[in-house]
Amino acid sequence: MAVTHLQCKACKAEYPLEARYVCERCFGPLEAAYDYEKIGRDVGELRRRIQGGPQNMWRYADFLPLVSGPPGPSGRLASRVGLPTGCTPLIRADRLAKRLGLREVWVKNDAANPTHSFKDRVVSVAAARARELGFEVLACASTGNLANSVAAHAAALGLDSYVLIPADLEEQKVLATGVYGTKVIAIDGNYDDVNRLCTEISAERDWAFVNINLRPYYAEGSKTLAYEIAEQLGFELPDRVVAPIASGSLYTKLAKGFSEWREIGLLQGDLPRMNGAQAEGCAPVANAYAAGEQVCRPVKPQTIAKSLAIGSPADGPYALDLARESGGGIDAVSDDEIRDGIALLAQTTGIFTETAGGVSTAVLSRLAQAGDIDPDERVVLVITGEGLKTLDAVRGTFETTVIAPSFEEFEAATEGLPQQRSSDSLGGAPAALAGRS
Ligand SMILES: *Cc1c(COP(=O)(O)O)cnc(C)c1O
Repeated sequence: MAVTHLQCKACKAEYPLEARYVCERCFGPLEAAYDYEKIGRDVGELRRRIQGGPQNMWRYADFLPLVSGPPGPSGRLASRVGLPTGCTPLIRADRLAKRLGLREVWVKNDAANPTHSFKDRVVSVAAARARELGFEVLACASTGNLANSVAAHAAALGLDSYVLIPADLEEQKVLATGVYGTKVIAIDGNYDDVNRLCTEISAERDWAFVNINLRPYYAEGSKTLAYEIAEQLGFELPDRVVAPIASGSLYTKLAKGFSEWREIGLLQGDLPRMNGAQAEGCAPVANAYAAGEQVCRPVKPQTIAKSLAIGSPADGPYALDLARESGGGIDAVSDDEIRDGIALLAQTTGIFTETAGGVSTAVLSRLAQAGDIDPDERVVLVITGEGLKTLDAVRGTFETTVIAPSFEEFEAATEGLPQQRSSDSLGGAPAALAGRS
């Protein structure tokens, strides 16, 4: 494996590959460092190795911070143990593009992971590293999806787990977590309170808190989302990526993934413009971006996008740098725009996303309407979670017609509605076919 050490993102101090996350010299965050010369010695062979790898994120094991190779019975094939994550669909969304006045829009649907959010990527890596380091308990501070994923991965690997969440989370997320036999501890407070408590607990207990003491390993899992997008586009870079921001980890690691592959020679051309998406009710990074500031002022979250409700984002300053340097930006949208975003994506692609995906879709929609996107750009919209987990967001947005089981009532109820598919939605099929569908 090519991972070599942990390194402070701020002062570059080096540390061994242990369960640590903060620099002792400057308190900066630690990040995994690799021997890229070793990985990129033969790019043709690297590409073949990736393409011949398992149909999950372990095909990118060269770029992940495990020392004994991906976990498995023989120390090799991770696809045989745990929950296979990744290789989610990248779908060309022509009807969405048309609605937005764009030419080429792709939707990366990470709701198609084992616990229905992109968090399975980060947890896969953190859980595998926790096993290498000999931990027997997985834990996390979560806004919902992380709890879901930690509980499931712990169950799959036979580890114990504790998940700590804010008490006001969506019921669907709590139920879908407790079922795995984890200990769910709900805190009377917001995510930032939960995170503070977990930091305290991690100093007292010998547990693997995936997003605290194992954060340098955890965070690397998000890079696989970028690798997959590039591989699914035929080893090409998109022009622009729109992705949500909570702590800013996913957003910044997506960019790290693209630039690693470009440096190593797997990809050519310009790096994509990176557009971050937040909810107005919790927009510390978007606010700092709009104000031209370099630090994020903490906020008290108040939004339906609970999975993004981090008021004090750990990677905020790095997200700001990325938005500015990549030529992208960071926008915030209202709860109504989020609901509209969910409906727009569902009705043009058949993909039902949770509120976080509504945030990304609404930001893409706003950028397109403002003319900020060149119509010829190839845009990737990152959908990070599943709509069934935040059903309240769509409650009351449409009506169900109740009738008696009679044809007359059916006729009355559907009067004036289209009775057959238009030739447009048949995609140019002969008109004679329309009546038969
Ligand atoms: C956690 C999460 C994110 C982003 O999280 P970061 O902390 O910014 O990495 C985005 N979408 C969903 C659905 C999430 O659960």
